[in-house]
Amino acid sequence: MITVMKFGGTSVGSAEAIQRVANIIINTKGDKVVVASAMSGITNFLVGVVDNPTQDVDEVVKAFADKHIMAAEQMFDGEIMAEFRKEFDKRLASFREAIMSDPNDAYYKDLVTSQGERFSTLMLSFYLKKMGHESIALTAETAGIAAVGLPLSGSADLVATANGMTMKVRPLLSKGIIPVITGFYGIKDGAPLTFGRGGSDYSAAVVANALDADMLEIWTDVDGFMTADPRIIKDAIKIEEMTFGEAAELAYFGAKVLHPRTIEPVRIKRIPLKVRNSFRPEEPGTLIHSLRKKGKGLLKSVATKNDLAILTISSAEIAYKPEMVAQIINKIAENNIIIYSISTSLSTVAILLGNDDVTTVIRRLNEFSNGEIERIDVNNGVSLVCCVGDDLLSRCGVTGDIFTAVKDVGANVEMISEGASEVSLNFVVPMNMVMDVVASLHAKYISGDAQ
Ligand code: ADP
Ligand code: ASP
Ligand code: MG
Repeated sequence: MITVMKFGGTSVGSAEAIQRVANIIINTKGDKVVVASAMSGITNFLVGVVDNPTQDVDEVVKAFADKHIMAAEQMFDGEIMAEFRKEFDKRLASFREAIMSDPNDAYYKDLVTSQGERFSTLMLSFYLKKMGHESIALTAETAGIAAVGLPLSGSADLVATANGMTMKVRPLLSKGIIPVITGFYGIKDGAPLTFGRGGSDYSAAVVANALDADMLEIWTDVDGFMTADPRIIKDAIKIEEMTFGEAAELAYFGAKVLHPRTIEPVRIKRIPLKVRNSFRPEEPGTLIHSLRKKGKGLLKSVATKNDLAILTISSAEIAYKPEMVAQIINKIAENNIIIYSISTSLSTVAILLGNDDVTTVIRRLNEFSNGEIERIDVNNGVSLVCCVGDDLLSRCGVTGDIFTAVKDVGANVEMISEGASEVSLNFVVPMNMVMDVVASLHAKYISGDAQ
């Protein structure tokens, strides 16, 4: 039995947290493969380093080293500390080299921001050794995690990763060694390519896929996948079970507890996933698998994605010009921009995308010859609300019920996407209303009586 266990930033954020996590690992039966994020705050610090290139390199390296050494000193001393320092100093030298490498390289930000994971995994692995368990700290390079794609938005090459890990990781398991692997990035052409912020969840799913694991556990700082973001909805409740499809939709549309792409690598191999709280390991967490268990409410969970924009492109009778619609989509695709929703009418195409992508898309649309596009309207500052529930599409009147809750708070629905997924109903509201909308939906159809 192989369990892949992923620990997020807060779960490895201090000496105390690392010690807690090590106990969780040790108390898990069977073969274990660990994937860890950087200590909390470290990746943000590294993003700051890239964004402010004038900072003094020595100061940056010192601040980075201090944070880790402070935690290490609370865990190690004597011989084990000396051994740790040797490894640590090697990695620190590579960290310095990374910062000082060519900032104009397209993958420079991937190289620098992925450094934190190399240090958290080293500490966790050494602590396991201190506790008398054989362990080895692997990087994506030494574990064989292969990536493809553009800077800051890589995907794993699942086949190459499976081959790499079969050679490099499997043999360790048969010897009873616990590998502790860096999350967040894979290797493309010999250099790091990150999977997007929060990407260690995805790394762990990729590792589970590569090793044909029996279980993937995502250990975080909340009791499980909840009915809404607990930072917005104070009475959000933990969900006991969900399907892969439900979790995938919610993660894609903003439920930060899982990186948007975590589900696919495990779904295709039917590897069950649990979301658990490393601060309360006695809690069973949320089980995500292929079996559907009906809840009692109309909705199971609500997620939101902020900072989106609706771009409405007007062109006379565009509905009769499918080639033009295809060209519009192609131009957006060429820039690797995600379209969150799309709807058409006789003379307009409305596209939902990230606020940050609007300028690029308008620039690309200006490539159409004069007059082909009559107008482009931008409505930025909107949010998408993703509602997941049982039988949303087949149950009569559900849409009406949901929009009643939206109307109750006086929010205008700017765009609707229903029917694209079996499990979700998505719609767009002004960003300044989104919290009220979620609170109203949650009170009415999740925590309240109106079910
Ligand atoms: P980690 O560092 O462990 O990867 P993250 O901060 O990335 O943790 O994700 C966990 C956080 O996700 C929680 O602390 C919570 O605030 C937030 N979150 C948003 N939506 C949900 C949800 N539906 N269920 C649980 N947590 C959620
Ligand atoms: N450390 C990375 C980040 O902060 C990856 C992760 O935490 O999953 O985005
Ligand atoms: Mg995360």
